[in-house]
This record gives sequence, C-alpha cells and structure tokens, in this order.
Amino acid sequence: MYSTIPHWINGSATEGESPNRGDVFNPATGAVARTVPLASADDVNAGVAAAKAALGEWSDTSLAKRTSVMFAFRELFNARKDELAAIITAEHGKVLSDAAGEIARGLEVIEYACGISTLSKGEYSENVSTGVDVYSLQQPLGVTAIISPFNFPAMVPLWFFPLAIALGNTVVLKPSEKDPSSAIWMAELFTEAGLPDGVFNVVHGDKLAVDTLLEHPDVAGVSFVGSTPIAKYIYETAAHHGKRVQALGGAKNHMLVLPDADLDLVADSAVNAGFGSAGERCMAISVIVAVEPVADDLIAKIGERMSGLTVGDGTRSCDMGPLITQQHRDKVASYIELAETDGATVVVDGRGIEIDGDANGFWLGPTLIDGVSTDSDVYKHEIFGPVLAVIRVASYDEGLDLINASQYGNGTAIFTSDGGAARRFQREVQVGMVGINVPIPVPVSYFSFGGWKDSMFGDAKAYGPDAIRFFTRQKAVTSRWLEPSHGGINLGFPQTN
Ligand code: NAD
Repeated sequence: MYSTIPHWINGSATEGESPNRGDVFNPATGAVARTVPLASADDVNAGVAAAKAALGEWSDTSLAKRTSVMFAFRELFNARKDELAAIITAEHGKVLSDAAGEIARGLEVIEYACGISTLSKGEYSENVSTGVDVYSLQQPLGVTAIISPFNFPAMVPLWFFPLAIALGNTVVLKPSEKDPSSAIWMAELFTEAGLPDGVFNVVHGDKLAVDTLLEHPDVAGVSFVGSTPIAKYIYETAAHHGKRVQALGGAKNHMLVLPDADLDLVADSAVNAGFGSAGERCMAISVIVAVEPVADDLIAKIGERMSGLTVGDGTRSCDMGPLITQQHRDKVASYIELAETDGATVVVDGRGIEIDGDANGFWLGPTLIDGVSTDSDVYKHEIFGPVLAVIRVASYDEGLDLINASQYGNGTAIFTSDGGAARRFQREVQVGMVGINVPIPVPVSYFSFGGWKDSMFGDAKAYGPDAIRFFTRQKAVTSRWLEPSHGGINLGFPQTN
C-alpha cells in the first residue's frame, strides 16, 4: 500500500499538483496510516481530460474486445481479492469476512458486465411502414463521474464502473477520502487486465473535487452514493449543469416482525443485519417494529445473542470492527445518550465495552434500545452505527403506517410465516427493496439496486438493467432503402402505410 495514496490518471499514479492532503486512519488503532491528496480543480480537470481523450477509441472498440478485457479483469480480481479485503479492513475497519462479502457482491457486477454483448443488444422492427425498418442503437453516454461513500469502498464503485466501461464509456471515480486505497487498487488491476490508459481514472478529494466534476462541461453523467443531504445536492447541481444523474442517499431500514414469525430466526437476522459492519451499511436494519405480544421475547433473544458478540480489530476473528472515525463514533454514541434523555430504555449499552484491540481505536459496541419514540431524533435520523431500536406496535397496519411515514425508503423486511401477510406487505410498503424473511435484501447484480423517497434521487437505479439505460444514449433509426422509382414531394407528417 502507498504511504501517500495517489490519483490514477491516464494509466499512471500521480500525486497531482494540489498541496492539500487528508489523513487516512486505521480505525482499529486510531493512528493516521496514510495520507491522500485532495485534488485541486486542475487535478480533476486532468482526470476528465484523460477520460475525454480516451473516449473516442474506447467507445469504438469492438464489443468482443471490450468483453475480453472485462473477463481478464474478472479473472485477476478473483485471483487477488484477498489483497483487496486486507486493504478494506485496514482503512474501513470492517472485519475481514465482511470485507470478503462486500468484494463478492462487487464481483457479481463485474461478472454481469462480462455479458455486455447480450445486455446491450438493441431492438429491431422490420417493415413498420411499407419498406421501412426501425431499430435502436445504444451508444455510450460519454465521460461519466462516480462519487462514492466510505462504507463500501470497493462494492459501491463496482456497482457502476464495470458496466459504464463495458458499455464504452470512460470514467472518473472520486472515492471517499476516508478509505481511498481500494479504488486505486482496482484501477491498477484493471490496467493490468489490459484496459487502455485514460478509460478509468481515480481522483481523490473533497467537496472541491466533487463540485468540479458536477460543473465540468465534459462530464455527461454522474452516479452518486452517500448521505441524503449530499445526494439531494448532487442531484440538483448535476441536473442544473445538464447532466444525467442518479444519486442514492441514506436510509433508516425497518424490520416488521409479525406475531407468527420464527423469533429465533428474527433474532439472528436482527443481530446480523443490525450490527454487521458496525451498522455502517445503507441496508442495515436500524429499527425493529415488533407487533405485540412478541417484543419482550424478541428483546430477550436478541440480548442473549448480543452478549456473545466480540468487538475488535478486523484482522482478528471478531464479529464487529470499529467505526470509521472518532468523530463519527462520538456522534453515534451521542444518540444513545439522547435515547436515555428521550425516555427510552437502553437494554444493551455499547459504550465502554471490552475490546480485542488497541484502546485508541474508534470503538462502540452493539447497542439495543427499547421503547424509542417516533418523535425522537434517535428514530428520525440515520444514525449509521451499531444501534438497534425497537418500537412496539399493536397491529400489522400500525407497523405498515409507521414504515410508510418514514422519509426514507431504501430497504425493509417482514418476518412472518403467513404468505398472505407477506404478499400484502410487498404490495403496500413504500420502500424500494423488500425482504421476506430476508433481513438485507440487496438485489443480485441482474436486478437493479435503489430506494424510494429520500433514499434515491433520479430514475435509474444502480447496476442491473437500469445501468444499461443510464450509461447509454438510445438512438432510434428509421430506415428506408428505396426503389429508384420512389420519391416525390409530400409535406404531410410521416405516417405508416
Ligand atoms: P457522504 O455523503 O458524507 O459522502 C459521500 C461522498 O460525497 C464522498 O465521496 C464525499 O467526499 C462526498 N461529499 C461529502 N460531503 C460533500 C459535500 N458537501 N459536497 C460534495 N461532496 C461531498 O457519505 P458517507 O459518510 O461517505 O457514507 C455514508 C452514507 O452513505 C450513509 O448516509 C449511507 O446510508 C449512505 N449510503 C447509501 C447507499 C445507498 O445505496 N442508498 C449505499 C451506501 C451508503
């Protein structure tokens, strides 16, 4: 790993011209492990210029050649994915097995992109009018920008760049400045797999870099994943500058538990989905909506399981790692205090728990809070940490209304053994991704990923079929090859005949 993590522009590592640097921590030790250059506008412009220069030749490269580069990337990536897992754990903090899970889900998208020749086939209608055929072309959008969050430093960029590139676009990725090494590792690997220089560029930075991309006249599309206020800002600003934009935001995911559910399965699922990756997942379960009379039993079962969880350095065999920064750790802990102030009961308190690791890491243990009021900020805000809240309701309808009143609509799950109730839920819930006895319903790569309401701005979701449309411009061709005797003047609007 580099000590100063470079940009990757036009197939080479460079630290750029900006003197500004950000600190990259090892969250398990609290120490600064590396620094990252924070790009100036000129550094970003260099990345966009490289992508623009590479666009003509790459978009003209045959589907066969593009596909073979994708397969070569898939093979290298799969062979060396353990290196990437180590990088993720060192900078994000999540435990190695969880890093491997993120990589596996990202790899799925590379594999989907290997089928680009089938996925990008156009349509053809013969003889729509006498002697006239109509067909569609799917041409690359152009230079596309990807701006990604800290919590999945490999998987979220992988949601976008393999498909964008396979479809003939060129890319500038601005990864999170908190854990930027994964992006560079992937860019170097793609070059090794035979990707021409300039097709995939990585530029590190903060708001200045992002704003430069949003306003750049040579950027045609913007794919963003991050918190809701920034997603909204990206959507509005990029659209204002005439770009196609998809902006995925934050979440507050509810698990509705009906009285007929298997409570052992529910308890396992709640612990896995609530505390995996220290709750720093946009699909984490953060609220259990328990339809009475199950809440007491369920809380007891979850509490039992929580007492067995180990928290520590992600390179050891722990269940859960640290949070991303000290500042974020303190913010998450402040919600536990607030819950107490707001009259909720902290059933399991993650503050001050025993750690298998360096005392200076950004630690907070799994926390369970009962009786959270929907008026409390503990309920209303996305906490993005290992804090699971329980809300008790009297009926399915009350639970459904509560979920549908949330400003967020990313993921949700119902636990029940009643197929009819599950079917009602999948129809009635106002959320983009629904699990039925599945706590983290992240769609596979050949479906698309995205939420509703304040969890997503734009109309094309990530990966899957939506990505094919997002990263291409459709062109409809109407064609007639005439007999020489045809022709003549007719100013009327064209009609089929
Ligand atoms: P964030 O919004 O702070 O940052 C995301 C990206 O935006 C980063 O690259 C960052 O550098 C950039 N950025 C931050 N502030 C900016 C500003 N003022 N102007 C322009 N750019 C800015 O998010 P994060 O803390 O890195 O990630 C966690 C958030 O991402 C959570 O809210 C989580 O729910 C969300 N998330 C959503 C999904 C999803 O699919 N909906 C997936 C993963 C994460």
